[in-house]
Amino acid sequence: MEQFYITVARIAKKALNHMVAHHTPLLPDLYAKYFYIFLDEVDQEVKEIIERENSNKRSEIKRQQEGTRALLTTIAEVVDNLDNAASTHDRELAKHQENLASIDRVTDIISLREMVSRELQSVRDSNTSLQHKLTSANEEVRKLETKLAQITDLATIDELTGLFNRRALFNRIVEEHSRAERYQDTFSLLLFDIDDFKLINDTHGHLAGDAVLRKMANFLKGSLRTSDFLGRFGGEEFICVLPSTGLDKARMVGEKLRMLLTKKVFEDSRGEVKIKVTVSIGVSQYHTGDTLDEVIKRADDALYMAKNNGKNVVFTEASLP
Ligand code: GH3
Ligand code: MG
Ligand code: MG
Repeated sequence: MEQFYITVARIAKKALNHMVAHHTPLLPDLYAKYFYIFLDEVDQEVKEIIERENSNKRSEIKRQQEGTRALLTTIAEVVDNLDNAASTHDRELAKHQENLASIDRVTDIISLREMVSRELQSVRDSNTSLQHKLTSANEEVRKLETKLAQITDLATIDELTGLFNRRALFNRIVEEHSRAERYQDTFSLLLFDIDDFKLINDTHGHLAGDAVLRKMANFLKGSLRTSDFLGRFGGEEFICVLPSTGLDKARMVGEKLRMLLTKKVFEDSRGEVKIKVTVSIGVSQYHTGDTLDEVIKRADDALYMAKNNGKNVVFTEASLP
């Protein structure tokens, strides 16, 4: 390597001497011209060394270019994934990338690297602000979800008892009806009606009546299997659906609930008044080809029979004429 610098210094000196001797103006491009003329005169080995050095420098520059280009591409990809707020930076980076392809001086690469670095900082800043925006957007989404859930609850849940309201219950029974139809399965339906509820209201007051409805709902909910479902069909009427269950089994379930209720003592909301409550139950079963209305009608007819046969009793569609 030392030989290389000695040779270069010798050529440089020779070129300068020649220019001074021939009164040539000492301008860089003229100096370069003479330098190369004298360079041609040195031996082949030195020429090769110079070429190798230049080629090393070129590949170093190329490596730097490639590295920076890869970096830019990565950044461009990241920017591409951001929303429109980052698209301005994307364009800037692309411009630098273009410049990079046309330069080969190390100093230019360094200044380009600084520009890229600044641009990168700018991207990170807008990334941060984008993240803030996303966070608050996320919070907004959460609030909306909660609101939507509340609205959905209002539309499907009976406020007093917390059970499905009539509409939601009906929709749920429609689903069960379709399921039974599709899979050639069955289901049974229990229609509960509190006996002499008007009397309960008249005797203990409307608020006590409300408390009875709430406790009746909790009692029924707590007595059913998870596959069963329940809703408030009307004032003091509840429907319970037992999927994949035949009439006999359903009647036994109804009978068990009726029995349990006779042993239960309800209280008003202040716990002061003890109230005895009985129910009458009408039971029906889905048979292939039945419409939903037909199934509900048979449960209602059976309930009517129960009311006419002393109340506090279970009747099934099997007893219908
Ligand atoms: P039956 O044994 O024949 O069923 O007689 P009943 O008195 O239970 O039947 P009826 O249908 O004549 O009366 C039902 C009563 O339920 C009438 C209504 O005021 C009352 N009711 C309906 N919804 C509510 C409610 O949300 N709260 C209260 N406290 N009472 C209600
Ligand atoms: Mg009623
Ligand atoms: Mg009643």
